[in-house]
Amino acid sequence: MADFSMELNEDQVQLQKWIHGFAEDVMRPNAEEWDEREEFPYPIVEEAAQIGLYGWEFVAEAMMNDPTGLTFPVAIEELFWGDAGIGLAIMGSALAAAGIAASGTPEQMMEWVPQCYGTADKIALGAFCASEPDAGSDVGGYRTSAKYDEATDEWVLNGTKAWITNGGIADVHVVVGVVEPEFKSKGHASFIVPPGTKGLSMGQKYKKHGIRASHTAEVVLDDARVPGHCLLGGKEKLDERLARVREGKPGNAQAAMQTFEATRPSVGAQALGIARAAYEYSLEYAKERHAFGRPIIMNQAIAFMLADMATEIEATRGMIHRAAWLGKNGRFENAEGSMAKMKAGRVATWVTERAIQILGGYGYTREYPVERWHRDAKIHDIYEGTEQIQQLVISRAISGLRIE
Ligand SMILES: Cc1cc2nc3c(=O)[nH]c(=O)nc-3n(C[C@H](O)[C@H](O)[C@H](O)COP(=O)(O)OP(=O)(O)OC[C@H]3O[C@@H](n4cnc5c(N)ncnc54)[C@H](O)[C@@H]3O)c2cc1C
Repeated sequence: MADFSMELNEDQVQLQKWIHGFAEDVMRPNAEEWDEREEFPYPIVEEAAQIGLYGWEFVAEAMMNDPTGLTFPVAIEELFWGDAGIGLAIMGSALAAAGIAASGTPEQMMEWVPQCYGTADKIALGAFCASEPDAGSDVGGYRTSAKYDEATDEWVLNGTKAWITNGGIADVHVVVGVVEPEFKSKGHASFIVPPGTKGLSMGQKYKKHGIRASHTAEVVLDDARVPGHCLLGGKEKLDERLARVREGKPGNAQAAMQTFEATRPSVGAQALGIARAAYEYSLEYAKERHAFGRPIIMNQAIAFMLADMATEIEATRGMIHRAAWLGKNGRFENAEGSMAKMKAGRVATWVTERAIQILGGYGYTREYPVERWHRDAKIHDIYEGTEQIQQLVISRAISGLRIE
């Protein structure tokens, strides 16, 4: 186990520089165009694949081969500093990979995670499909049914998934289905829906407030049949788990919570990258913009705003890195992953709003990037667990009580 330190090792410093270069040279110059087009930025993701930044090997190396836990958040902060919409287009398949890793066997991981990425010459995409039109936070309210057809050894999926990153354009969809409705979230299972499966289609594509280069759509499952081996974890394990629930024995909810806690610091790092971009930009602007015969930063009102922005960003990075280390070493005590994610979302939304304030009228226009960063930041109060759901998780962790 590595000791906790904010100091990056040589490999992490090199990785940070490499991704920063891509973010500065490729993502930043293209950010505005793809935000306006509201389309998946295939040429940019293909370029990332060519240099090894989009691919399962990159994600595996960054996540598995790092005892500190810091490599992934460091990489993500740089990507989202470049652009959040394109950043999520590059990272979206990791959601599917994480879904496979959370429930799949090692053999299923080896088979399906690479298929979520394809190759450098022919990229593929993955999507993780959990949320539904009537149930986002309330995971016990999912309705997408998964029924086993013993005659053909197939699972039949029916239902609609909502707000799915890469939904309908992905090659591999990981779908959470309800096997035993009366067991609520304990009756769920995850399924791989392989490329070209009949009965899976894209529903509406959402027009969004921010991260508009990332594709978000409904996924409709209409008698979509997948082979038995596409049940993640396998039927034997599922039957054992359901039998335990039937007998009233504890399930594996604790393990699932730990998995969510461990991935949340990386979502916080997305928000941190956006906040840092907006802070750096508004700091330079404040030094150059003159009003009343002096740079606006010479007014305490502006300089103190920037001082607060810098302080919040430093505090957030500290929380994210520590939570990432705790997650890697199985040492969470008080939902520190949720704390880091919630703090980062709030800070990014606040910092980007302050950045608009510092740029004044220019900040409110699309000529300058800060309004885009503000729109991009807001999603971090919503997805991967809303601000209120993080509060729920934290309050339960600190009190030991079932706060509702
Ligand atoms: C751009 C985007 C990308 C996404 N990508 C994916 C994806 O790839 N895969 C996926 O499965 N999902 C994805 N989502 C869905 C996302 O995770 C959900 O939107 C989120 O979990 C919130 O669910 P909801 O929208 O149904 O809100 P609701 O659950 O309806 O919540 C509405 C409001 O009520 C509050 N609330 C709800 N319950 C409680 C409670 N018990 N206590 C206090 N407050 C409460 C919430 O905090 C929120 O403020 C994405 C969403 C967006 C917008």
